[in-house]
Amino acid sequence: MTLAERARRVIPGGVNSGQRSIPGFTDLVIARTRGSRFWDQHGREFTDYHAAFGPAVLGHNDPDVAAATAEAGTTLALAGVGVTEAEVALAEELTALVPSLEKVLLTSTGSEATFHALRVARAATGRDLVVKFQGCYHGWHDAVSLNVISAPERVGTKDPTSTGILAPVLDATLVLPFNDPEAVRRVFAEHGRDIAAVILEPVPHNVGALLPTDTFLRTLREECTKAGTVLVFDEVITGFRHGLGGYQEICGITPDLTTLGKAIANGAPIGALGGRADLMDLFSTRPGGPAFFAGTYNGHPQVVAAALATLRKLREEPVHEHIYRLGARARDGLAALYRELDVPAVVTGFGSVFVTYFMDGPAPLTYDDLLANDAARFIGVRRALTDHGIFELPLNLKRSHVSYAHTDDDIDRLLEATAKAVRT
Ligand code: PMP
Repeated sequence: MTLAERARRVIPGGVNSGQRSIPGFTDLVIARTRGSRFWDQHGREFTDYHAAFGPAVLGHNDPDVAAATAEAGTTLALAGVGVTEAEVALAEELTALVPSLEKVLLTSTGSEATFHALRVARAATGRDLVVKFQGCYHGWHDAVSLNVISAPERVGTKDPTSTGILAPVLDATLVLPFNDPEAVRRVFAEHGRDIAAVILEPVPHNVGALLPTDTFLRTLREECTKAGTVLVFDEVITGFRHGLGGYQEICGITPDLTTLGKAIANGAPIGALGGRADLMDLFSTRPGGPAFFAGTYNGHPQVVAAALATLRKLREEPVHEHIYRLGARARDGLAALYRELDVPAVVTGFGSVFVTYFMDGPAPLTYDDLLANDAARFIGVRRALTDHGIFELPLNLKRSHVSYAHTDDDIDRLLEATAKAVRT
């Protein structure tokens, strides 16, 4: 029996995230990762642009992060009783770097961070409705994972018996098109007084990359401020990948709450929720209060050490300069290649993130625009790339990333391999 077959016997779908293997890759077993590479069970080497959905901004198994992690040990702080100096240092660093963060709490995953963001927004406003956007993903919990891509509609019902945030949170979610300020104004005109939170990925990377317009982001900020609604930027992907201050620093719009994850600790399991002190302080009330917050592994010493080592490197070394430059090389090179081959393609992305949609331009702004993408070609090219030792996730609309460990040679090889893959 192969390892993958053994996995399917004991792990639903054979994988621990996503509940299914990718068609055509049901036998992929990752044996080892390092820098920009991974190796499968047969010793085949891949240059990795999937990067486990992106956390390893420095590259897999960065030696400095690994050393700091090993040194930290696994003894947990006394949850509810004390913190460690490292936790305080990390909170100080996060609040100093990310504009909207006055106070911050650590979680173990991004999903927990977005879940708690919505709970505290509901506790603070006494309202139930949440507005999210087509194409955005915010984690696995019921409150927002539904209708990632659905048409605008109200999902679920408000629970009339709900008295507080600890009651089961039923979905009361409005899903709007991204980049549509008119839709935002309309929904606030109709439901404004019921909307607890608006949550968005400032750049929806879960469908590749939809770049937000200034008007859209400014309208969100204005409408939320007017209605007393909590604006949540989900920067689980964009935070620390696009810059030390997240995308909020780049776009100049300050949300009320921010969720972070992935790149903070270069792959160690971490999430964070931070923002306005008055909102975050709702978490400090006693258990059973409006926004009880807990987690056995929050502030885990190895994870905190990994985060501090990652942030140190992001601050002290030209990481962003490098990954922005290679990201731009990938985008420009791919765009030139597709022009040369006369293949209709829009190559877009931001910083270290790139994605090619097989459609005519201009760059897509909404999820609906992405319906024009030729999914079969998208997946086909990526499948063919694996024959040339390049791994970009062969699932429709998935983005690719470069890390600090990627080199100019890697980008040359990506371009050469893509030229071959497109011709097959
Ligand atoms: N928000 C965004 C924008 C994400 O991309 C993800 C994960 N892909 C999450 C939240 C959830 O994070 P996690 O998988 O760590 O729970």
